[in-house]
Amino acid sequence: MEKTCTEVWKSCLQIIKDNIPGQSFKTWFEPISALKLDGNVLTIQVPSLFFYEWLEEHYVGLLRKTVKKQLGEEGRLEYNIVVDKSSKSPYTTNMPSNGNGAEAKFQSMPIPVSINKDIRNPFIIPGLKKLTVDPQLNPNYTFDNYIEGDCNRLARSAGYAVAAKPGGTSFNPLMIYGGVGLGKTHLAQAIGNEIKRNLPDKLVIYVSCEKFCQQFVDSLKNNTINDFVNFYQAMDVIIMDDVHNFAGKEKTQDIFFHIFNHLHQSGKQVILSSDKAPKDLAGLEERLLSRFKWGLSADLQIPDLETRIAILRKKMYADGIELPNEVVEYVAHNIDNNVRELEGAMVSLLAHSTLNKKDIDLNLAKQMLKNFIKNTSKEISMEYIQKLVCEYFEVPVDMVKSPTRKREIVQARQISMYLSKSHTKSSLKTIGAFFGGRDHSTVIYACQTVEDLIDTDKNFKGYVHDIQKKLKMT
Ligand code: ADP
Ligand code: MG
Repeated sequence: MEKTCTEVWKSCLQIIKDNIPGQSFKTWFEPISALKLDGNVLTIQVPSLFFYEWLEEHYVGLLRKTVKKQLGEEGRLEYNIVVDKSSKSPYTTNMPSNGNGAEAKFQSMPIPVSINKDIRNPFIIPGLKKLTVDPQLNPNYTFDNYIEGDCNRLARSAGYAVAAKPGGTSFNPLMIYGGVGLGKTHLAQAIGNEIKRNLPDKLVIYVSCEKFCQQFVDSLKNNTINDFVNFYQAMDVIIMDDVHNFAGKEKTQDIFFHIFNHLHQSGKQVILSSDKAPKDLAGLEERLLSRFKWGLSADLQIPDLETRIAILRKKMYADGIELPNEVVEYVAHNIDNNVRELEGAMVSLLAHSTLNKKDIDLNLAKQMLKNFIKNTSKEISMEYIQKLVCEYFEVPVDMVKSPTRKREIVQARQISMYLSKSHTKSSLKTIGAFFGGRDHSTVIYACQTVEDLIDTDKNFKGYVHDIQKKLKMT
């Protein structure tokens, strides 16, 4: 007696169940129903295009073997894909199974897809007909308060271009990378906010990679993978922060790979941030990395002093506070590798002054920042340099500040000035003033002399080297 499609599919499921983890079976096979059996062609119905892609990519071998076992060598599988659940009679499309994986097919064969508009998702505000999504953006991160400097010029202007024309530039994806606290999140969110300002109807979503991974795990648990994927695939702009956190999470990378392809092919904008350049990201699948390199990767570097001062000023202005210039400069001078710490230092300075009802002056700033600076880089003072040099040459400490022109004192003084120039952030003027009220041209001359002697006098080079070594040990 001929078997029905349901019976054949049931036998297939039995085999499949024995060959894959229970959770995967539940997610990918339970939602499938058998539709018809036409000769040796079995047609199954899957809930979405994404489902079809996933099955073809991950289970095509197993499916093929199983179907052949049930229907003989000529046995074939076809998919019926529910494309739009919301219309009365579900629009479906048929797709034969092939062994090439979904990606090859996806590129060679344009499929008429109407995204399922009936998406159940926690971000969607219910009761509205049009699909609206809370973009999860922080309104405080804007281009307006993102200070431009050499450190971020490329990334900032690329971001600005993307914001004006999401999906319409060659910067797709736009990958922003750089160290901790250098402004990746701020810039990525600024792009999102700017898009919403220019094009309020665009569906924009900001999500950290970590949160995305968590949502994926949850949707696996709750059997809502389809909703999860449909939601992201319906976006016009996706901003994913900290993609280095994908490392080692292969399943989530797979899902994101599909979402990425879908969005990119439909001309939607993808914005990514990461703590490393794509080529240096470890633990990410090659095919995902290669896509990350498609558009533009722009790095954020440590801002220079002027930019740091401008960032502090902007922040003070926004918070309605005032600090003496010398304090702002001191903070910007000394905290030089991380904008978040820079702001943090200012905030604790303020807190301190409010608590103790003391005005913030340079002394208070110095006292306060000791803790910060210890953690970042230790400050070497001119006093300390002077002490080391004088000890090394066995000359009295106060002599270098005196007007004397004795040879060994002049030498100690010049080396002290040279080291102060290279190891502290003091200006030439400050250095000159410190070493006995001399002017900046004296310091320039001293530095020049020391450099020349290092080049020509081996012994002298040895002295300077020794002292530098001692300095570094502090
Ligand atoms: P990341 O995501 O790279 O770790 P964030 O974007 O969180 O860094 O930035 C840390 C802090 O520094 C934020 O408060 C941000 O507003 C501020 N910041 C960074 N770069 C700039 C900039 N160019 N202009 C103004 N503020 C900045
Ligand atoms: Mg960040």
